[in-house]
Amino acid sequence: MNTTLEAYDIELFAILKSLQQAKQNINSFIKNIWIFSDNQAAIHRICKNSKSSDQKISYKIQLKAEALFSQNIQLHICWVSDHVNIYDNEQADKAAKIAAAANYNYDVINCSNEIGISLTYLKRKTKESLLKSWQNHYNAVKKDAYYQNLHTQSAWKSLNLQLKATRIVWFSYIQLKLEHDYFKSYLKKLSDYDSDKCDCNNSSIQSSAHLLLSCSKYAAQYSKIKDKLKTSNLSLKLLLTTRDEIQAVFDFLKESEIVRRNWISN
Ligand SMILES: [Zn+2]
Repeated sequence: MNTTLEAYDIELFAILKSLQQAKQNINSFIKNIWIFSDNQAAIHRICKNSKSSDQKISYKIQLKAEALFSQNIQLHICWVSDHVNIYDNEQADKAAKIAAAANYNYDVINCSNEIGISLTYLKRKTKESLLKSWQNHYNAVKKDAYYQNLHTQSAWKSLNLQLKATRIVWFSYIQLKLEHDYFKSYLKKLSDYDSDKCDCNNSSIQSSAHLLLSCSKYAAQYSKIKDKLKTSNLSLKLLLTTRDEIQAVFDFLKESEIVRRNWISN
């Protein structure tokens, strides 16, 4: 297949080809045609008439289904879970893998009549390109030491960390990550605050790093976090960007109730 096609396009193409194949074998006894696919997105696409990706091919499948219906033949397109030992499905999967590994530099099957330009492919390439230019821009611009330390990677979606926390704990975590809001290294920028020093020793700047790593008021909690994570070294990068460490920060923020309006005003 053409290298500018996505799995989704190819699934739709395969459904159309199966339908054409089935039509060639129709006789007067056939009342139902069943096609099985493990791609839910492709099946949903056939049910819609929208002008999104693969409109042309899904419209062809719809027309063929209607033509069959007028001959009293019902078309059923069903979803099957993949890799559940359905013989034909496994064979198709094996054949697809062999073809993909062979890395042909020509089109094994010409599908240009059914799929001209794959919008799905174009969307993916556009997103890749935008993400790359975004990351290049981010790498090139001047950043303060705090952000350099986090090694931020551009992404379209935030990582699905599957962590649960109350709204206020999430809010405190985001504030620490952005170095913005209820702690003194940020508040010093406002006229109501004349010091950015933490009241634990009146000399350390009350920053995210200080509050998560070295404030003497929370030494006991830091030990607890180290025990939980089985490490003797904590870093801001790990605490703010990796799953288990973020969970430990959530627990700490919940227990200590720091980086909140009430905490800063007390
Ligand atoms: Zn402190």
